[in-house]
Amino acid sequence: TAHEEIDLKRFIRHVPDFPKPGILFYDISTLMRNPDAWQLAMGRLARQVAPLKPDLLAAVESRGFLTAAPLADRLGCGLLMLRKCGKLPGETISHTYDLEYGSDTLEIQADAIQPGQRVVVMDDLLATGGTLAASVALLRKAGANVVGASVMVELTSLGGRNKVDAPVSTLLTYK
Ligand code: AMP
Repeated sequence: TAHEEIDLKRFIRHVPDFPKPGILFYDISTLMRNPDAWQLAMGRLARQVAPLKPDLLAAVESRGFLTAAPLADRLGCGLLMLRKCGKLPGETISHTYDLEYGSDTLEIQADAIQPGQRVVVMDDLLATGGTLAASVALLRKAGANVVGASVMVELTSLGGRNKVDAPVSTLLTYK
């Protein structure tokens, strides 16, 4: 189909020195705002993730929300949020992980997952893998059977997927 002809990489904008000097930021905004490109991306993600038969998609704040929500709708599965500290009401489980400088904490609602439910974690981009590794650890604390991780963009030279203790699927890879 005409859709298959679209090279999705054309729609990812590269912004040098954002959010700080030396970082090349891969901006999915320019993909999302093109209806054909966005539909194609969601269709391809759906084909990658459907075979994992998830009960729930776990969306990592904040750009993971943007990919996980439409995908959960396509797959007919549930959706849950992994959020920064202090955002979720009710009882939560948290996981703190190291960053290059300092640390960060992700939280999940304690009752979000029935023991053994199949969960796929989603974010926009995999860089060092710290965020996805922490997400997998948190989901396991909450009782999940983490059957995979899915991102739109993978920066392969950082080797992040080796940190993630689950099979990682990606749409677009960059060195
Ligand atoms: P990491 O934990 O190093 O794998 O970083 C992944 C998280 O940081 C994701 O939530 C991304 O949205 C964001 N991120 C890291 N590096 C970039 C980049 N070069 N361009 C866009 N987002 C990035």
